[in-house]
Amino acid sequence: MDAVIAFTSGSPSPTRFYSSASPSLRGPHSLSVCGPWRGRGRPLRALRHRSQAQAPAAAAGAAEVSHHDVVVVGAGIVGLAIARHLLLHTSLSVAIADAAVPCSGATGAGQGYIWMSHRRPGSDTWELALRSKQLWEELAAEVDGQGGGGARERLGWMRTGSLLVGRSSEELDTLEEMTKVLSQAGIHAEFLSASSLHALEPALSVGKDGGAMFLPQDCQIDAFQAVSLIEKTNNSYSSEGRYREFYNDPAMSLIRSEVTGTVEAVQTSKNILYGRKAFVIASGAWTRSLLHSFLEPALTLDIPVKPRKGHLLVLEKFDKVKLNHALMEVGYIGHHIAKPNSTHMASESSEDELGALSVSMTATIDTKGNLVLGSSREFKGFSREVDRSVVQCIWERAGEFFPAMKNVSFDIDQNTQIRIGHRPYMPDGKPVIDFIPDMPNILIATGHEGNGLTLALGTAEMVTDMILGNPGKVSHSPFSIKHRFSDLFVSNTV
Ligand SMILES: Cc1cc2nc3c(=O)[nH]c(=O)nc-3n(C[C@H](O)[C@H](O)[C@H](O)COP(=O)(O)OP(=O)(O)OC[C@H]3O[C@@H](n4cnc5c(N)ncnc54)[C@H](O)[C@@H]3O)c2cc1C
Repeated sequence: MDAVIAFTSGSPSPTRFYSSASPSLRGPHSLSVCGPWRGRGRPLRALRHRSQAQAPAAAAGAAEVSHHDVVVVGAGIVGLAIARHLLLHTSLSVAIADAAVPCSGATGAGQGYIWMSHRRPGSDTWELALRSKQLWEELAAEVDGQGGGGARERLGWMRTGSLLVGRSSEELDTLEEMTKVLSQAGIHAEFLSASSLHALEPALSVGKDGGAMFLPQDCQIDAFQAVSLIEKTNNSYSSEGRYREFYNDPAMSLIRSEVTGTVEAVQTSKNILYGRKAFVIASGAWTRSLLHSFLEPALTLDIPVKPRKGHLLVLEKFDKVKLNHALMEVGYIGHHIAKPNSTHMASESSEDELGALSVSMTATIDTKGNLVLGSSREFKGFSREVDRSVVQCIWERAGEFFPAMKNVSFDIDQNTQIRIGHRPYMPDGKPVIDFIPDMPNILIATGHEGNGLTLALGTAEMVTDMILGNPGKVSHSPFSIKHRFSDLFVSNTV
């Protein structure tokens, strides 16, 4: 039986301060689908079959039925990039639906690093990251070739290079080792002593035991500009009937064929979107609850993706500290270490369960001259509230690396943007990119945590190849569902 919930969606506020909003749900068939959109939820009567599904839409006179080849749910960087890749490289038509608008999820808070420096050659995400970065480089080159401000203006693209910095001899040992390993993998990486680092970044203070690893080829984008560019490309296919966007329109349930049981459409709050070839679920941190509403009561799969809240601080036209590169403290990489055999919620540490806050210094200047400081990580559900104490921690952590900032009085209300995003966190540290077992036309692409901007284009290429049945440039097996969530399959006894 498919249960359906309708939401009265309001307009999200993608920038500056966000207020919290949690849809309230009532009724015996209510399922908790948390969304980034504002508004209150109210249960609708359950829709079970295709014929019934169309009835309330027609009765209300407000819903529209449309037919597409591929329907993408979620218009964050991952969903939009998938739509773009399908449009550019196939003849398929694409519809994309979002509960709110692009950039209202994690994407709108992303710092924009397209980096290789904090990755490990041979790890499960290495090949995908390499390929994805190459695709970003190709996109930037293409945009540069079109003139008119080029990739810098239209993508926020800068080859800033990356500096992974350490302040203790232990951290320097780690950085030296990483430099060796990355160099052996063919990445241009340099180990910098404290004095060499000072020559590159005079404003940075790491002490005499400090140093850095420098990757001159690492880049950055502006997430908002990248999304806007991708949307423009996608929309250029609208006139030939190959692309449609459905925003402020949360997906709520699946509609199956009465005869075969195959999924035929996604029911949103306002539309019924038929997909002839495939459905892609790219709803970031909301994917777990959305899958519940899609699959219950015959819940056969529980993907343990959950929201890892992050604050990002943007200081507009900040000129008290001059940076020449993008930086990150080496302690940040601890956030990306996968916990072996940790695919189940219950195996997370008690520290995670308690929502312990961690803040690591990341700092860069964007193309508009804003200082972008990151970032925090904590498990706080889908709260979108700005926590001023977290922002203060980010500021103070940056001050430990940039002494000049200690002399600046920081006023959170002055020329400051606070961005909040919920990284789609997977306990085993890698995304899920696969068809749902026994549902061969539904593919999930989520769980990119703090890497979704970097991995988006590679993920999009992978998803396209999977839909077409092509072998693919990068193996998708590390991201598969089978053998990874076997303990999470719930027996279908209902
Ligand atoms: C502070 C911070 C800094 C970061 N820095 C970087 C960085 O430097 N480099 C990097 O690579 N990554 C970075 N990331 C990570 C990156 O932002 C995410 O991995 C990426 O944005 C995830 O994209 P997504 O499309 O999967 O999810 P989202 O951007 O969250 O998109 C999911 C979309 O699904 C929609 N949705 C939810 N429910 C429904 C529904 N029922 N129906 C329809 N739509 C629905 C939402 O509205 C949302 O738009 C950072 C993240 C944060 C928070």
